[in-house]
Amino acid sequence: MKKFDLVITKGTIVTASDIFQADLAIQGDKIAAIGPSLAPFGNRLMDAGGKYLFPGGIDVHTHLDMPSGGIVTSDDFYTGTVAAACGGTTTIIDFANQSPGESLEETVDIWHRKAEGKAVIDYSFHITVCDMRDSVFNEIPDMIRRGYPSFKLFTTYDGLRVEDGVLIRALKQTREHGGIVCVHAENHHMIQYLVKELLTEGKTAPQYHALSRPALAEQEAVARVIRLGQLVEAPIYIVHLSSREALGEISRARREGLPVMAETCPQYLLLSDKYYLEPDFQGAKYVMSPPLRPWESQEELWKGIAGGAIQVVATDHCPYNYKGQKDLGREAFNRIPNGSPGIEARMSLIYNYGINEQIIDLCKYVEITATNPAKIFGLYPQKGTLGVGSDADIIIFDPNLEKTISKDLLHERVDYTPYQGMEVKGYPVATIARGELIVEEGRFIGKQGRGNFLRRSHPVVL
Ligand SMILES: [Zn+2]
Repeated sequence: MKKFDLVITKGTIVTASDIFQADLAIQGDKIAAIGPSLAPFGNRLMDAGGKYLFPGGIDVHTHLDMPSGGIVTSDDFYTGTVAAACGGTTTIIDFANQSPGESLEETVDIWHRKAEGKAVIDYSFHITVCDMRDSVFNEIPDMIRRGYPSFKLFTTYDGLRVEDGVLIRALKQTREHGGIVCVHAENHHMIQYLVKELLTEGKTAPQYHALSRPALAEQEAVARVIRLGQLVEAPIYIVHLSSREALGEISRARREGLPVMAETCPQYLLLSDKYYLEPDFQGAKYVMSPPLRPWESQEELWKGIAGGAIQVVATDHCPYNYKGQKDLGREAFNRIPNGSPGIEARMSLIYNYGINEQIIDLCKYVEITATNPAKIFGLYPQKGTLGVGSDADIIIFDPNLEKTISKDLLHERVDYTPYQGMEVKGYPVATIARGELIVEEGRFIGKQGRGNFLRRSHPVVL
């Protein structure tokens, strides 16, 4: 009998539906068998020593090598995916951002060139559309067929935002061709009004960023987008949901049976708006949109995850250096580059605060970090689960390993982490991507450029 390339023995296998002790065999880049006593059939053995085997994390919200307002996010597709891999993530979906005048074809070509030869884990692209002229609108069906079934639209930011009319047409067009629209939902005019008021009063410090983008602005836009989707019976995926007010709108829509889904991020679950008060402009590190919220929102978002109203935890990894990039907003909070790093610590942070604090169970943990992202964005069951025939994307996770999150621990190419000093129990000790051991004891040992582009199929509404 032909032997398996690798058998991982004595693991505790966790999927979104099961937890059991078994050996797991890998042949090439796929999981070939799961069962008891597979050790005699392995060419090579790896002893998991009772630790957890989770499906590799899937982070469906990243911004690598992204130009914006004259600067570029500090991680490229090499450094960013190395960091992801070290943290237990084996797949990302990054946002390919259209520039005005570009066709969507040109947009994805640009992003392919950024990722090819660099990414160390598998990747795919959502397409961010800011210029929905007729020719772009007509490209949507073809892009869905070619493996880009998800599009992101903004309701805020000059130069990016689209009007409701455009949203309605885009929602209908994507729905009809089996795609999905993701929305950054905040009310543009409320924010514009508040920014002007605050700056006129001389309120320029980072803390006013949060006041300029209140939960009300998010709630209004989420509610509106949900109703636009209802009009044309289109599914909606709200990115980076941050507030309990907006979550209320999601929950209500789901109770009504509408196909509305939501993602939140570790920063909205773990950090509060108090961080903006850190002295000496340190608050700029947490300037992101939507902003961090008061503690009550964190509590409600966790409940939203546990209860199923929120299906995904992604990172919105959008790293800007404090020195030289965040700095640009010293004169006024609205000039601070928006975004914060987080691609590496997600799997550990959510484990520590979700599992150790007993808010969610292990199956739910796998569901929100891997299985649901794969299902919603057309990668399941190739990705997002541990099953025979699936890609062998596996992390070996030690629930007892204690770490203190710090800039020095992480591999992200950015000069700070918003989670500095947080103590976690539970950390990945090995990352296997398509059958290849690429991270061992926190060290990346894979090859640059080994990541493949993933052509995705139709999204599933959960
Ligand atoms: Zn984002």
